[in-house]
Amino acid sequence: MIRSVLIANRGEIACRVIRTARRLGMRTIAVFSEADRDSLAVAMADVAYPIGPAPARDSYLRHDRILAVAKASGADAIHPGYGFLSENAEFAEACAAAGVIFIGPPASAIRAMGSKSASKQLMERAGVPLVPGYHGDDQDPALLAAEAERIGYPVLIKASAGGGGKGMRVVTAPAEFAEQLAGAQREAQASFGDPKVLVEKYLQRPRHIEMQVFADTHGSIVHLFERDCSIQRRHQKVFEEAPAPGFSAAARAAMASAATDAARAVGYVGAGTVEFIAEGDAFYFMEMNTRLQVEHPVTEAITGFDLVEWQLRVAAGERLPADQSAIHATGAAIEVRLYAEDAGRGFLPQSGRLDHLVLPEGEGVRVDAGVRAGDVVSIHYDPMIAKIIAWGADRGEALQRLVRALDATEVAGLTTNLPLLQAVARHPEFAAGKVDTGFIARHADAVVPQVEPAGPAALALATLAVILEEQAEAVGRAQATPDPWSPWSLATGFRINRPALTDHRFRDGDRVIDVGCRFLGPARFQLTFDGLELEAEAAMLPDGSLSARLDGVHCRARVVRMGERLTVFQAGRATVLVELDRLAGVTGAEGVVGRLTSPMPGRVLAVRVAVGDTVAKGVTLMVVEAMKMEHAILAPADGVVASIAYAAGDTVQEGAELLVLEPLGT
Ligand code: ADP
Ligand code: ADP
Ligand code: MG
Repeated sequence: MIRSVLIANRGEIACRVIRTARRLGMRTIAVFSEADRDSLAVAMADVAYPIGPAPARDSYLRHDRILAVAKASGADAIHPGYGFLSENAEFAEACAAAGVIFIGPPASAIRAMGSKSASKQLMERAGVPLVPGYHGDDQDPALLAAEAERIGYPVLIKASAGGGGKGMRVVTAPAEFAEQLAGAQREAQASFGDPKVLVEKYLQRPRHIEMQVFADTHGSIVHLFERDCSIQRRHQKVFEEAPAPGFSAAARAAMASAATDAARAVGYVGAGTVEFIAEGDAFYFMEMNTRLQVEHPVTEAITGFDLVEWQLRVAAGERLPADQSAIHATGAAIEVRLYAEDAGRGFLPQSGRLDHLVLPEGEGVRVDAGVRAGDVVSIHYDPMIAKIIAWGADRGEALQRLVRALDATEVAGLTTNLPLLQAVARHPEFAAGKVDTGFIARHADAVVPQVEPAGPAALALATLAVILEEQAEAVGRAQATPDPWSPWSLATGFRINRPALTDHRFRDGDRVIDVGCRFLGPARFQLTFDGLELEAEAAMLPDGSLSARLDGVHCRARVVRMGERLTVFQAGRATVLVELDRLAGVTGAEGVVGRLTSPMPGRVLAVRVAVGDTVAKGVTLMVVEAMKMEHAILAPADGVVASIAYAAGDTVQEGAELLVLEPLGT
C-alpha cells in the first residue's frame, strides 16, 4: 500500500500528481529547486523539501538528494512525472535499492526502450513496422552519409537518446549532411550526454499517432485508445487529441495490437505510450515513452479514467482498475499546450514574470497548470505555462469549447503561443481534421501571428481604462481631503467655464496615436483618434473588468497595467499599448531596425558575417546556443553590418547586443 508519495518533478505535472494522490488519501511530498521555492506545487503539497540550485542537474536530476528526501520524509513511493528522471533506469534501480517504490516500469523496460536505435532493432525483431532507416552502432560519418544516400533524401537525423525534439535535423540534400550531422551530434551530446544518432527516411506529410498502453504486475496489458499529436512545431507537440480524426477502426485495432505487443516484448508495467508515425492507414514504430505522457488528459477525458490513479494502483501491486472490455471511448477531446514562446521568432522560449494570468473554465474544459499570476517562467525549465483541454460529445463540440476557452485566456508579461493556438483552432483545415506534422509550417502565414496595428476598440478601451483609473484615484484623493464633494477633487474633466476635454497619447509598436476625450456626462465620453469619432460609455466592474459601450455596442474587456504598458484583452485578442506622457517628446520609433540582441543567456557558436557585409533580410548572421538548442540570429531587414560585438565561443547574457545592422542607404 502506498500511503505517501514523493513527486520528483515540478510545475503542472507535480500539481497534477498531488491532486490525485490527495484524493486517494495519500500524503504528498514535493521537492523544489531554488527557482521554485514559491511555486504552486510547493504550496499544494503537504510538505516540500529544497533539493538545490535552479539548474536541473543540481536539483531535479540529483538521485542522491531526492532519495535523501524520500528517506527523511518516509515516502513509500516516488512519482517521477515526465522529463527529468522519468525514463532513467539507474534512478529506478536506486529507488529499489533504497526500498522506495518507483512509479514506473521496471528498469529493464526503461533500458530496452531508452535508446531509439536499440528499441527499433527490438521492434523490428518483434515484427512491428519501422520507417526505413539506419539504427546501427557504427557512427562513422562516412557510413552515416552512405546510409542516408541508400535511404534516399530527405532524411531525418535523430539523437538516439533523444527527447523533446532535441538533436533532430532534417537533411534535404547530400551536401548538407555533414554539417547537420555535426549539429545533431553536438545537441545530442549537450542534452543527453550521448552523441549517438540514427538516420531514417523523413516522411513528408505524416501524422503522429500514439497509443496509450497500461500493464500491471499480474500480466494484464490493455490499451486506452490513440492520440493524434500531429500539430507540432520543432518536432514537438502543440495540439493533442483523441480519437485521431478520420482514423479507421481497422487501423486503430492494428495499432493497438502492435502497441500492446511492443509493451509485452519488454515486460512492461505501468503507463506507457507507443508512438507511431502514420501515413494513411499505414503506421511505423517511432519510439516508446516509458512514462506518463504530457497529453494524458485527452485520454482521461474520453475514457473517464484517472491515469495517475492507475499508476499509483499498479505501483502498489493492484490489478488494473479495468480490463479491455470495460474501457470505452466517449466523445472527443483536444488539448493545447500554452507555451511561453515567440512563434514570430522561431518559437523561441521566453522567460520572465507572468504579470497577469487568467485561465479559462466552463463545461467540458479542464486546465492543468503549475503556475499562478506573478510566478516566473524560468530559463531553467520547459516553458510550458498550462495545458487547456476541452471535451465534447463529438470533435466539433470539443473544438468549439476549445476556441471559447482560448478566447477567455489572458496572459500578460510574457509572449506566449496563445495567438497561434487560437489561429490553428480556428483554421478550416484543422476543423476538417486534416492534420499532419507539417501543418504549422505549411500554414505559417495564417497561424504565426503578425504584428497587427491596434484596432479602434482596443484604443478606445485603453483610453477609457485610463480615465476610469484617474477617476478612481481622484475619488480616493477626495475621500482623503476635508471637502470630498468639492468639484476640484473630481477627475471627470469637468471644469467650470472650460471644455471638458482630456488628451491621451499611446504608442502602438512604432506608431504614436493621440486620443482626445470629451466628457459628455457621467461615464459618457466622445473619443477622437485617427480621424475617427466614437461615443463610449464605461464602468469598472468589481472583478476589475471593464464594461463598455462603443457606439452603442456593449462589450466586456480587461485592461491590465504594468507601468506604462497597458494590455487590452478583448474578444480573445490582447493588444499592448504604451501610455506616453502627452507633454514629453515622441520616442521609440527611431533606431529599431538594427540592434540585434541575444534572445537568452548562451554562447556564440558561429559568426557568419563580417563588418561591412551587405546582407539580405532573413540571412543568418550568428548562431547562438541557448538552452542546449541552436538559435539562428537572422537579419530582420536588408542592411549593412556596422559592428560585431562577439566572436565564436563567447558567452553572452540575455539582451546582450550581438551586432548592429544599419539599414541600406544610411
Ligand atoms: P510527451 O512526449 O509526453 O508528449 P514531450 O516529448 O514534450 O512530451 O516531453 C515531456 C517533457 O519532458 C517536456 O517538458 C520535455 O522538455 C521534457 N523531456 C522530454 N524528454 C526529456 C529528456 N530526455 N530529458 C529531460 N527532459 C525531457
Ligand atoms: P522525441 O523523442 O523528441 O519525441 P520522436 O522520435 O518521437 O522524438 O519524434 C518527434 C517528432 O518528429 C514526431 O512526432 C514527428 O513529428 C517527427 N518525426 C519523427 N520521425 C520522423 C520521420 N521519420 N519522418 C518525419 N517526421 C518524423
Ligand atoms: Mg516522441
